[in-house]
Amino acid sequence: MPTYARLPVTFTKGEDALLWDTTGKQYLDALSGISVCNVGHARREVADAICAQAHELLHTSNLYQIAHQEALAEKLCALSGLDKVFFSNSGAEANEAALKIARLYGHNKGIAVPTVVVMTNSFHGRTMATLTATGNTKVQTGFAPLVEGFVRVEYGDAAAVEALAATNPNIVAVLVEPVQGEGGIRIPADDYLPRLRAICDQHDWLLMLDEIQSGMCRTGKWFAFQHTAIQPDVMTLAKALGNGVPIGACLAGGKAASVFGPGNHGSTFGGNPLACRAALAVIEVMEQANLAARAAELGDYFLSQFRTKLAG
Ligand SMILES: *Cc1c(COP(=O)(O)O)cnc(C)c1O
Repeated sequence: MPTYARLPVTFTKGEDALLWDTTGKQYLDALSGISVCNVGHARREVADAICAQAHELLHTSNLYQIAHQEALAEKLCALSGLDKVFFSNSGAEANEAALKIARLYGHNKGIAVPTVVVMTNSFHGRTMATLTATGNTKVQTGFAPLVEGFVRVEYGDAAAVEALAATNPNIVAVLVEPVQGEGGIRIPADDYLPRLRAICDQHDWLLMLDEIQSGMCRTGKWFAFQHTAIQPDVMTLAKALGNGVPIGACLAGGKAASVFGPGNHGSTFGGNPLACRAALAVIEVMEQANLAARAAELGDYFLSQFRTKLAG
């Protein structure tokens, strides 16, 4: 279906940051598959892991234990300081899991219409709940009725979130990108996340960070929230986690980690051996190449150049 107005180019091969099209023309890939291919195209260690796993076992079911899924969950928890992981196949699905955790968390507290605070200019995906959470009317137009249980405030305005506490007793969580990606790479003030953390603590709300685009070393840390001293209750990942192999993750810590029990959520493919083995290889490459430090160095360079050369 024509859901994308595609550009007239077909890429047939990639290597590191380079791409080649069907005519053999070489490109420097500055898009990285929309922040997916963070360790480069055709990265050998990742390709080897995918091939090896394909020869061993692609899929069983989440009805059984899956060793690579457990290893990946442990790795992600160690890197983030969170406690539990639900694996999905995409970012939108990871956010769906987060939203379901928020609702169940609310219902467990006796809140009949649990409501999640979301931001202007945000992007959280294209499923019905995540397009409702998204702060872009282009994504929503034509798809009403939207999903209930969301209230929107200005991105970057912690006081607006605080003000809701006095008027809306149904709020259970705040869902926010630490840096807005699709919204135009918007970096909030340094105290924004700490202030949201304090508000959530005060009102017993979950702080849920969508790190689908800002995570996996993109901002110079494993996760963008690690530029602050706070911990989220829930964090979602996807995009670069598999470097192109579809995988998403919804991580939870503390009281949020024990909300889901057997039967509350599921996925046929989520957390399958192939995707998890690929993601483990991606993380290993990121660790060995110290990609976070490299991203910090290049990020500082680009930001300072943009600020001087594009100023005014
Ligand atoms: C890309 C993106 C999503 C959606 O991920 P999909 O894998 O396309 O469903 C959600 N949130 C953010 C911040 C994103 O950048």
